[in-house]
Amino acid sequence: MRLVVPAGGIGGARFLRGLRADVPDAEVTVIGNTGDDISLFGLRVCPDLDTVMYTLGGGIAEDRGWGRADETFTVREELAAYEVAPLWFTLGDRDFATHIVRSQMLAAGYPLSAVTEALCDRWRPGVRLLPMSDDRVETHVVIEDEQGRRAVHFQEWWVRLHAEVPAEQIIAVGAEEASPAPGVLEAIEAADAVLLPPSNPVVSVGTILQVPGLREAIAGKTVVGVSPIIGDAPVRGMADACLTAIGVETSARAVAEHYGPELLDGWLVDDADAAVATDGVPGIEVRARPLYMRDTESAAAIAKATLDLALELRS
Ligand code: GDP
Ligand code: CA
Repeated sequence: MRLVVPAGGIGGARFLRGLRADVPDAEVTVIGNTGDDISLFGLRVCPDLDTVMYTLGGGIAEDRGWGRADETFTVREELAAYEVAPLWFTLGDRDFATHIVRSQMLAAGYPLSAVTEALCDRWRPGVRLLPMSDDRVETHVVIEDEQGRRAVHFQEWWVRLHAEVPAEQIIAVGAEEASPAPGVLEAIEAADAVLLPPSNPVVSVGTILQVPGLREAIAGKTVVGVSPIIGDAPVRGMADACLTAIGVETSARAVAEHYGPELLDGWLVDDADAAVATDGVPGIEVRARPLYMRDTESAAAIAKATLDLALELRS
């Protein structure tokens, strides 16, 4: 079986770990969000690709959900001693090595997809991890604070400002001119189903869908998604602030309607939102299931339910 999973960071990675456990023999292609990518200290950092790679490769710091396990922060302390900004973004020593390798390869002219493949040679994530695009796409957020109205990098809004300053607009800069990375459209074309993990619908899945051609290609497949919203709140992080910025209510129903029946065939909501399944969403088959990914086992059960619904809707 061939599956495609467009994914952000933590929500995507944990779902994927469950999917790998549920169907170890499936050929899974992950389309990773690169809108969160940022250049820091002269290095290119790809937080979502790395979260997927480390989580599936067994190197993730499980408690934080990002960065490396058994991490130390000596380089960061030394940078701070030089008063080199930004200090609000934490990179560990082990993690730095990944960004050094990536930046070196990018500088030598390799596209991000080739770099990601090289990094995965070490981590063996058990999936084919492709960036959504080799072209640079960066999510910027328009805010207004004491410094006036301005656009900041998504990471500055998310990490430094904790998404507490309202976002007036969220823009994936460069998305319109970007092309899907090599292999992305082919993987979608060959897929038996596309599964949307409970990734951020705006700045993870939403960004991937903005790469020209991807929304149409995915919509042509059987698509089943998992709600990242349980009981009108995101499970982790501040996805509510992103949804508010695009005028979408923070609820499992509103996210399904935002994706819409043109894209989604099926949608899983948590048992807490069973009313959405009972009342129904026009054009989308909705089922209620426990959707907390506590461990690999619970994530595998969610992945199984997602895949089962996809196969059911496909026939
Ligand atoms: P990020 O790039 O690290 O922010 O990660 P993603 O975009 O992949 O996922 C973030 C989303 O995952 C958030 O909106 C969370 O609500 C959602 N999420 C995290 N853990 C869980 C979980 O256990 N269950 C569900 N249903 N959603 C989750
Ligand atoms: Ca992310």
